[in-house]
Amino acid sequence: MEIYSHPIFDMACRQFDIVADRLQIPQDERARLKFPKRSLTVAVPIRRDDGSVTVFSGYRVQHHLTLGPTKGGMRYHPDVCLGEVAALAMWMSWKCALAGLPYGGAKGGVNCDPLKLSQGELERVTRRFTQELVQFIGPQIDIPAPDMGTNEQTMAWMMDTYSVHAGHSVPGVVTGKPVGLGGSLGRRESTGRGVGYLINRAMDTLEMDPAKCTAVIQGFGNVGSITAYSLAKYGVKITGVSDVSGGLYNPKGLDLFKLQEHLAKTRSLEGFGEGELVSNEQLLELPCDVLVPAALERQITGENASRLKCRILAEGANGPTTPDADLILDQRDDVFVIPDILCNAGGVIVSYFEWVQDLQSFFWTETEVMDRLFRILEGSFHQTLQLSRKEKISMRAAALTLGIKRVRDAKQMRGLFP
Ligand code: GLU
Repeated sequence: MEIYSHPIFDMACRQFDIVADRLQIPQDERARLKFPKRSLTVAVPIRRDDGSVTVFSGYRVQHHLTLGPTKGGMRYHPDVCLGEVAALAMWMSWKCALAGLPYGGAKGGVNCDPLKLSQGELERVTRRFTQELVQFIGPQIDIPAPDMGTNEQTMAWMMDTYSVHAGHSVPGVVTGKPVGLGGSLGRRESTGRGVGYLINRAMDTLEMDPAKCTAVIQGFGNVGSITAYSLAKYGVKITGVSDVSGGLYNPKGLDLFKLQEHLAKTRSLEGFGEGELVSNEQLLELPCDVLVPAALERQITGENASRLKCRILAEGANGPTTPDADLILDQRDDVFVIPDILCNAGGVIVSYFEWVQDLQSFFWTETEVMDRLFRILEGSFHQTLQLSRKEKISMRAAALTLGIKRVRDAKQMRGLFP
């Protein structure tokens, strides 16, 4: 399908085909599993603060409808396009299936730079985008959530715009909302805490002592920062962090509390004044026990994969490692990979809990949310590790196999209509 043609969509297809080859899925069935069921491109015109009008491009891709409504984040970033969103939607499908959630994958977003828009402009973008999608989303159709460049406030505006149309409050139309609007306790922290939990499980498997380990984190947004705090709680020393402004390295460990204060004031790591300045590329090659890419796609490539100096690669981001890098990592038995669809699944798992709580209008305590989250992650980690060891395949191949197989089995059970 030409319309999705994009290096990131090609990458998602390549990952899929590697697994499909191993499962010997026939070509015609592959097309049914691979290509999105629905995609929508919309023009999002808004009035700017200076009175002029700008038209942004908005997208939403719903990958498959076999297991329930579709689910996935909304990204505001200058790289957002149909192909990228389609790849991210496909990954959401395998992620939800691996965790056993009753969803297909979706993803969407607006091609814009949220850092260059005022709060008022962001609100108008979000409301107009939601208005354009009003027929395509809903608690039983497709449920957006935050992703890069969006947050609880974005979800509150989406929920409000949708509810105004419906004529009554519809909290279940989005997840990742503020707790006071029907959001779930623990949702904001869930992705990072899940990453931390799985790193701890991997350390246990590899007989590493967290108190003697160091971690380097690329990206210090919602996922990267919460992962850092969660690892620090397990006793891990954070020696490197980065954001768009660049990276910081201190082999003795960075002071996370000071860093938090600095970020609260400036919203950027720039000017923190502690540690050695490194580029985002250098950061990935620093010596450490755990490396957490928690930013954009395609950071670990055929070019730098052989130079990684970590024992555990924990993918907080979606698609941070290319298939070329995988070929190298598969040969290196000194790097244990926790693949993205497993590693960052905490976010969508607690989104599922939020949706369930909204549908029942019955809310859980944070302890209940976290217990249930860790139980699901534990099951997924165990199944993935077991399959990887049994079939002698990588952790990524094992995780994708479990996810893809569940969607395939469901499609076979439902049959082909008409
Ligand atoms: N954007 C997140 C992800 O990529 C969360 C999606 C959701 O909660 O629906 O997994």
